[in-house]
Amino acid sequence: MEKVCIEMPRVSDCMVTNCTYNLEKSCHARAITIGDSKNPNCDTFLNGSTHCKEKSQSAGVGACKVSHCKFNDDFECNAENISVGFSGKSTYCLTFKV
Ligand code: SF4
Ligand code: SF4
Repeated sequence: MEKVCIEMPRVSDCMVTNCTYNLEKSCHARAITIGDSKNPNCDTFLNGSTHCKEKSQSAGVGACKVSHCKFNDDFECNAENISVGFSGKSTYCLTFKV
């Protein structure tokens, strides 16, 4: 497998413990996508039991579709790191700001 090394904002914590990528309130996907064109939900969310075997891998924000967030530039996130949680029953980027 070829590997790419790029800088991404880190997902510092995630409260969505019913997501397949979540272990101990951390996201262990390689990279996540945030948002549809309106809401900063986690587009990578997958409801299910934990799959993670490797705890050391932390997720980065690979892409963000929420262009009206102050941290968004050209559909990419430029925050230092983000936190993910809930807004009501939906997943939500808690770092989102207009
Ligand atoms: S950031 Fe998204 S993909 Fe990662 S654990 Fe949370 S809800 Fe799941
Ligand atoms: S902080 Fe803003 S730009 Fe970054 S992932 Fe969250 S909503 Fe997208």
